[in-house]
Amino acid sequence: MQENTLWQAVLGEIELSVSRGNYVTWFKNTQLIRYKDDVAVVGVPNIFVKNQLERKFNDLVVNILAKNGIQPSRVEYKIHSGIAPTTKHNDEGILKNPGAITGLSEVSTGPKLRIANVTHSYRQGLNDRYSFENFVVGAGNELAYAACQAIAGSPGTRYNPLFIYGGVGIGKTHLIQAVGSAILAAKPNARIIYASTEQFVQEFVDALRFKKNTTDFAGFYRGADVLIVDDVQFLAGKERVQEEFFHTFNALYQANKQIILTSDKPPKEIPTLEERLRSRFAWGMSIDMQTPDFETRCAILQSKAAIQNINLSQAVTELLATHIHSNIRELEGALNQLLAYCEMRGVEPDIQVATAMFENVKNRPKHINARQIIERTAKHFHVSMEDILGPKRDKDIVVPRQIAMYMLRCELHLSFPKIAHELGRKDHTTAIHSINKIEKETGLDGPIKQYVSELKEKLYV
Ligand code: ADP
Ligand code: MG
Repeated sequence: MQENTLWQAVLGEIELSVSRGNYVTWFKNTQLIRYKDDVAVVGVPNIFVKNQLERKFNDLVVNILAKNGIQPSRVEYKIHSGIAPTTKHNDEGILKNPGAITGLSEVSTGPKLRIANVTHSYRQGLNDRYSFENFVVGAGNELAYAACQAIAGSPGTRYNPLFIYGGVGIGKTHLIQAVGSAILAAKPNARIIYASTEQFVQEFVDALRFKKNTTDFAGFYRGADVLIVDDVQFLAGKERVQEEFFHTFNALYQANKQIILTSDKPPKEIPTLEERLRSRFAWGMSIDMQTPDFETRCAILQSKAAIQNINLSQAVTELLATHIHSNIRELEGALNQLLAYCEMRGVEPDIQVATAMFENVKNRPKHINARQIIERTAKHFHVSMEDILGPKRDKDIVVPRQIAMYMLRCELHLSFPKIAHELGRKDHTTAIHSINKIEKETGLDGPIKQYVSELKEKLYV
């Protein structure tokens, strides 16, 4: 049998014996390179997969190889450059597999990340950056991932509502957005609505204030096939919104429409949440999502670096994954900061540079307030505070203003209304729009990405 065919058979059986998460993270990008002289050589994308297969899964691999008629005296796991990023584009131009992991020893030459620019007939609030393909599965997020996959396969039938809770920056938004995009890819006419709770609240308040009724608002949300609402802990203390949410929930639930919710805590711990909502949130499946463990954090870093066509050494990966353990957003931030630092100086992201950067991080002031962020952004772009806070719409003022909003969101996690207020705007949708725009740009290889990384470096010095 050809190595390839044989390995496909082996993978098929492995897939049945380990969890989906383990399979995706540790086996998906492997191949059998050689079976000769009693030694089977398995190609793996990086050192973390190598370690994990050697330590944890070697017996399984040996057993399943034996079942397929191969009994090597030894299995070797080798980092193999042939497993460079398997970046594929589907016909819509959406990056299908940017999470594929590149070998550590070679510089990969996979295609650059393209952000899809597709407008669907009905899509609301979904960002293509967050897909299943670039979500790394491991201890901590496995269960949530499995539930989301199940829902993507048949929305509205199982796990309704799905309630995912857990700390900040651990991938909740990424996962639920991925479900939305996956359903939309399979059913382009499905009405998928993703909304942050803040947005839901604000739209409700606006409907009352400006239109004097909430009919359109209610109709919009109740017309969803899949309703995804992020961070429902922000419903706390908002009685009228809770009432509206309750009716939306019932209408969708009774029509077997899928509802997906996230929160930073379980329903029973959300203060001042009406009992009827609390109980409904727990009707389906509640999942406690945890921070990914060390190995998974390393795999995430490798995947994020691979997307940018960067090889990150084992030492640097481990340094970052050790220092930053509770928040993947911060982990990603640290990686981007390191890469920006190296790019500007034309040096490699090696362990010396990474260590030096961490020394800086340790020494830098921990607190920075909104005003300081705006001032430093204005100064960076040579714009006066008066202009950045004022009404002018010139491009060289608007862009810094948008970047300042983005910084307030990333660094201080302020709410949209608060961000708008800090920049002297009345309307929070300006903040949403600006932040989305900059977020999108930072995913592209253009000047905005450069400005943002330069500024991030300067922010704390
Ligand atoms: P939360 O909603 O829990 O606060 P997010 O979903 O916003 O967290 O995740 C923060 C960042 O970390 C995002 O950029 C996301 O892509 C990234 N991230 C988190 N977990 C993973 C993962 N398992 N694989 C890849 N990226 C991840
Ligand atoms: Mg989130």
